[in-house]
Amino acid sequence: MNFSLESEPGGALALPSFEPEQGARILDEIRRRVGETTFTTWFEGLEVHPRRGGRVEVIVPTSFHRTYLSDRYQTLIADATATITGTETPEVDFCVPARSGRTPPFATVTDKPEAGGFEPGAFDVGSPQPNSSETTAKSEDTTSKSREKYAFDGFITGAANRFALAAARAVAERPGEQYNPLFLHGSVGQGKTHLLQAITAAYRARGFKKVISISCAQFADDFIASIAGNRIEEFRVRYRSAEALLIDDIHFLEAKNRTQEEFFHTFNALTNLGRQIVLTSDAAPGEISGLGERLVSRFRKGLVVPLSPPDLVTRIEIIERKGADQGLEIPPDVAELIAKRVRDNVRALEGVVLRLHSLVHLEKRRLDLENTRAVLSELFGDANPRIDLMQIQNAVVHEFDMKVSDLHSRKRTRSIVVPRQIGMYLARRHTGASLGEIGLFFGGRDHTTVLHAVQKIEQVRDQDASLRRRLDTIESALLR
Ligand code: ADP
Ligand code: MG
Repeated sequence: MNFSLESEPGGALALPSFEPEQGARILDEIRRRVGETTFTTWFEGLEVHPRRGGRVEVIVPTSFHRTYLSDRYQTLIADATATITGTETPEVDFCVPARSGRTPPFATVTDKPEAGGFEPGAFDVGSPQPNSSETTAKSEDTTSKSREKYAFDGFITGAANRFALAAARAVAERPGEQYNPLFLHGSVGQGKTHLLQAITAAYRARGFKKVISISCAQFADDFIASIAGNRIEEFRVRYRSAEALLIDDIHFLEAKNRTQEEFFHTFNALTNLGRQIVLTSDAAPGEISGLGERLVSRFRKGLVVPLSPPDLVTRIEIIERKGADQGLEIPPDVAELIAKRVRDNVRALEGVVLRLHSLVHLEKRRLDLENTRAVLSELFGDANPRIDLMQIQNAVVHEFDMKVSDLHSRKRTRSIVVPRQIGMYLARRHTGASLGEIGLFFGGRDHTTVLHAVQKIEQVRDQDASLRRRLDTIESALLR
């Protein structure tokens, strides 16, 4: 994937080498392939410009669209372009106009950009323009504008990420003092870039002039370009004089020996000066394959913080807040349905909310369980593995540290009855099993016993915080 706009003579937007109508024809081809609804939601109003060298530029209103479309429709856009232009395997560049900070983060694609919103020549590009420090400074500037949404305030926490937020705030407030480097790691969509951007913004807000906040790929490109252009000294001066260096997706360094070597020296130079370094990665330092031991040990000297997928309650809160950000009130049962289905990626949660927004505002449909189910299967397919009775049995036994046979026995001691009732309650909530089947499974009881158990737990749940916590623990384990 390539988000960069390579500089072409006369500027990136000048001299398209294809007929202008080709963009419209590519869009038509996309419409034909994705169908009317998806097209209206995601593609209407986009600009598509085929370029020389087998590239196609897609201009999108927000960086969220960029991420979403590149995750899901990159290949389809490439194929549609190939069909119209005859280019083999075109590369797709998604570009966000620099002023997109002015549009709401979740503006739908069909909201026509305001005049001036799509200003040719000024883009928030994901890649550096490494050839001069001036352009680098400019691209950092535009990047910061479009990243206003990445603030600490917008970061919603639960057990999985509370510590990461606290660490990020500490580093934002006291750069270079305590945790150096700060190393955040976790799988995709956990908020690593979000926190990195929030720290960047905090540094800029406190007046730091030389904050370098880039992706590792940009660092590598910049390094290679400066070698090629005989500007390695300039490169070193620039990086080693940074007041803070924040590098996103440092795992990109794996098996890039020269870039690693250079980064190692940059790292040492800056930490010796007490300058803050923040790194994010998809894996812990020791788990990045091909990362040299000395870098691993440097990274471990700071603070290494994992970010795990948020638990159910946090996911529900995220959905509600992201909805509210767009003026969309998401009913609790709908939020819960989504949170149970989309478990480990906040970006995917945002995708659902965005889709619901267009459902309500463009398609004028109701935000109810049925329509939400349809959206979920449209986005993620129908592969929602049902939780079964065995999984519930195992989760309960694990949480209460008891014997499986006791759960199914006829024993009536309290330490067994309560977990058994919880098992029945969870079975009712999360499986399609009937009351009779549940009763049979939990020791051959009849359906009225199950009904009673379910009501009992529902009642106690609302009064007893410790029981609620245990239910949450079991449910998050089930829904992982
Ligand atoms: P990563 O870098 O870990 O892949 P991002 O930081 O890009 O993930 O997060 C993906 C999207 O989800 C971003 O739009 C981000 O703002 C949002 N996001 C992630 N975690 C949270 C959170 N805890 N609260 C609010 N938004 C979040
Ligand atoms: Mg990221």
